[in-house]
Amino acid sequence: AKVTRVGPSPTGSAHLGLLYVAIIDRSVADESGGRYIFRIEDTDQAREVPGALEQFDRAFAYFAVKPDEAEDLPGDYGPYRQSRRSHIYLSYVRELLRQDKAYLCFATKEELAQITATQQKTKLPTGYYGRWAIWRDAEPDAVRAKLAEGAPYVVRFRAPARPGARTRFTDAIRGELSHESNRNDVVILKTSAQEPRLPTYHFAHAVDDHLMRVNLVIRADEWISSVPLHLQLFEALGFEAPEYAHIAPLNKQDGGSKRKLSKRKDPEASVDFFLEVGYPAPATQYYLRGLANGRLADLPMAEALAAPIRLADCGVAGPLVDVVKLSDISADYIATLSGEEILGQLSAWAQTYDPELVDVVARDRDLALRALAVEREGVDNPRKDLRRWSDFRPVYGFFFPALFPLVSDPGDERLGGLDPAIVRTLAAEFADGYQELDDPQEWFAQIRDLAARHGFAKNAKEYKRDPDAFPGSIREAAQVIRVALTGSTRSPDLFSVARALGAPEVLRRVRALT
Ligand code: ATP
Ligand code: GLU
Repeated sequence: AKVTRVGPSPTGSAHLGLLYVAIIDRSVADESGGRYIFRIEDTDQAREVPGALEQFDRAFAYFAVKPDEAEDLPGDYGPYRQSRRSHIYLSYVRELLRQDKAYLCFATKEELAQITATQQKTKLPTGYYGRWAIWRDAEPDAVRAKLAEGAPYVVRFRAPARPGARTRFTDAIRGELSHESNRNDVVILKTSAQEPRLPTYHFAHAVDDHLMRVNLVIRADEWISSVPLHLQLFEALGFEAPEYAHIAPLNKQDGGSKRKLSKRKDPEASVDFFLEVGYPAPATQYYLRGLANGRLADLPMAEALAAPIRLADCGVAGPLVDVVKLSDISADYIATLSGEEILGQLSAWAQTYDPELVDVVARDRDLALRALAVEREGVDNPRKDLRRWSDFRPVYGFFFPALFPLVSDPGDERLGGLDPAIVRTLAAEFADGYQELDDPQEWFAQIRDLAARHGFAKNAKEYKRDPDAFPGSIREAAQVIRVALTGSTRSPDLFSVARALGAPEVLRRVRALT
């Protein structure tokens, strides 16, 4: 059984890559009958961004990637938040000190800056090692004297590697890898000048992965170069190292080339983006699973969501994130949903991102269902005008009286320059004779007859032949009713819209123009 984990740091909004890796973690753990853990790596408190944790929770809840163990879930291996585990790290730091696998380092900021500057000037690899490691072999008396003075110190790992040594390891995605071994005496416990005393990521994650019995680390490939250090740490601590799977990063097409999807450059690198615009969770899951394993993109959605993601099928080249592709998938998915299902998912999204819409839809639920049925239900080609939940307001908002500004100016530019007096007459007569008919042809006859009575051309062709002879064609006459009912010159089928609105609302809207 595989025990997997993600370990995000609350230093900003979640990267889409985090959700991507979490989906893979969840699937691989499930497939092996294992567990998937959500751990918060918050040892870098200076970079912590307030609200980031709440945002992670919202994102993971929305996209339905539920861990088996997390800070707010019962689990036997917690706490699952590193800042609450400092006592655990300290005991392991003490153990390494006792075994002389770690040492106190009193080097000051100025000394460290000096070392780095010299290394850079002489083009030597930078780091705290070899002859630069000024406290590595300090005399115990010198250390005691510094401690007595109360000088601040960090604890450094005594890197065991000789110059030129290499580390070989197997990656579940990339096969056999060989990297230069780590020689840097990295800091494992941060400065004694600050409370609480926290470890660095490298050290904390090794302790946690062991104590939380993680046996498979799935993470972005930017961590490959840290594996030699991580293996040294596991070894020094006397722990068995986990298996590794380094995932190719999500990429973005940028002009003619591909590059890493980056939060600094791309809004869609942030999970927030997908939440805010409201991509449905199943469509997003389906899309991301297809990026991880191409074969899943070829399966119908329900099957792909149930099929396992296999590490062996993850590519070494980073997949391209294409929001247009996701939008198409999403539109196809929403087109399969019933009105009730749409309202359910829409409202869950809007609770956070458009609370006014939740109220509006709840107040007029039947209207919402009738609106959603327009060109959507019982037809061969349902409208695919909803790609994400934030499309609902611009596309369907006009149905709701609370969101619809009445069109009351007969000279409104949306009416295409028709004489305002004619507009008023058409609106008044349409309203006076209005009948809510079941047959679309008969319903449209109300507009056709009205147009004929007022000398509109029967069709565009007739109108074009002699534009001066008519106020417009039937199209312009119908446009008056269309704009009155929908506020737009383009709309779904007018008959269906009028049926969904109901006669009283139709009359209210048309009469506004009189
Ligand atoms: P930027 O892309 O602006 O550099 P970042 O890499 O700093 O952002 P972080 O918040 O530091 O983003 O990364 C959070 C997690 O997301 C890390 O574990 C990192 O491995 C992962 N990650 C970052 N970029 C990608 C990517 N393009 N694909 C997959 N995972 C990524
Ligand atoms: N805290 C690290 C990050 O934010 C986790 C790296 C790992 O998975 O080991 O990327």
